[in-house]
Amino acid sequence: MAASDMVILDKPQQKDLDKCVHCGLCLNACPTYRQIGLEMDSPRGRIYQMNLVANGAPITDSYVEHLELCLACRGCETACPSGVQYGRLIEAARAEIETKVPRGPMARFARWAVFEKLLPSRTNLRIAAAGLWFLQKTGLQSLARATGILNLFGRLGDVERLSPKAELPTFFAQYGKVFPAEGPRRKKVALLGGCIANISFARLNEATVRVLQKNGCEVHVPDDQTCCGALHLHQGLRDQTRILARQNIDALLNGGYDAIITNAAGCGSTLKEYHEILEHDSAYAGKAKQFSALVKDVTEYLDSIGLTPPMKPLKATVTYQDSCHLAHGQKVRIAPRNLMRAIPGLEFREMPGSDICCGSAGVYNVVQNEMAMGLLDKKMNSVALTKADIIATANPGCLLQLRAGAEMRKTGQRVVHVVELLDEAYK
Ligand code: SF4
Ligand code: SF4
Repeated sequence: MAASDMVILDKPQQKDLDKCVHCGLCLNACPTYRQIGLEMDSPRGRIYQMNLVANGAPITDSYVEHLELCLACRGCETACPSGVQYGRLIEAARAEIETKVPRGPMARFARWAVFEKLLPSRTNLRIAAAGLWFLQKTGLQSLARATGILNLFGRLGDVERLSPKAELPTFFAQYGKVFPAEGPRRKKVALLGGCIANISFARLNEATVRVLQKNGCEVHVPDDQTCCGALHLHQGLRDQTRILARQNIDALLNGGYDAIITNAAGCGSTLKEYHEILEHDSAYAGKAKQFSALVKDVTEYLDSIGLTPPMKPLKATVTYQDSCHLAHGQKVRIAPRNLMRAIPGLEFREMPGSDICCGSAGVYNVVQNEMAMGLLDKKMNSVALTKADIIATANPGCLLQLRAGAEMRKTGQRVVHVVELLDEAYK
């Protein structure tokens, strides 16, 4: 890619900014604006600030702070009648900050360690899984929780509560395998295992394979796949996302798959945008378009091919939290609800404001913990109104966040992925 393309691409484009007519109809859909009521922390206010920078204003600390407080949940995009693609704007603005604002040594080290060395590396993720597992098994994690010692270090207690757990064996053990369809083969699909999901949601990934098999899908777990780059993209690390995108395209595009499936809405949203991320890469632009067209969220795909009816009744009540990157990013809202309604015995109860962000948002709940916990508190109030036994969602990050909410409120509710409910009903 030519360097000039990079400059054009990695900052908000004036034509995208100009779509905003400042009507304010998005304000009430914005979780950060609802929480603190500041115009500069609303979509309209953030677009206004991006416009100033696009027209020569300097990138100040205040600009960075207001943009970093944005969840990139894209609730404003759904609410906007003028078709403003806010997700595109915030990703480009963060990429511009990343290239123009120097970070301190600690921040640089943390970004290098997490985004370059951990997430794309199977070996390092396995080492991390072993470390997490050790903490869990030795009881050190429980001890720290029980004593509340981490609360002595600011919000470390809350952050620890949100941390993923290791599930051994990891899902990496399934890489390179093919799982046959049950009954006649209807479809041939590839499953993306994710990055952290391979070590912290290994059982969810296995459940996803089983449910796809039950629905006549031959499931391939290609060995050469890698992290999708969603977390990198949300942090403004677009070049690293591009490297990962090219690797996934090379690993998956020529497999003859009917669909490329993910059970993580945050990943799906980025995978469906590979064609935008690589639009100026002449070698990959066309391939990225084909790739993105094949990507489906697992709920979207199962609903579209027609669900084999689940047999075992589940006697429970369930409510559903829309994952932002599924509802707002991919516009998939009905499919997960249809799947849950197809389970005999399961009573579905809609919660108010189900499409308002729970505060998870990738690594947001760690780096903006105070805002994230405030949003979670409100979300748990909405959940409580439904009196449901189970909270279902469609994204691993939301699962972690809502599990922390259920734990803090001691509600005893199970928090599960929609696919896990189907898996139970098929057993
Ligand atoms: S983003 Fe859309 S809804 Fe919000 S102020 Fe601009 S035009 Fe109005
Ligand atoms: S992406 Fe979410 S948090 Fe950010 S401005 Fe839009 S609605 Fe607000």
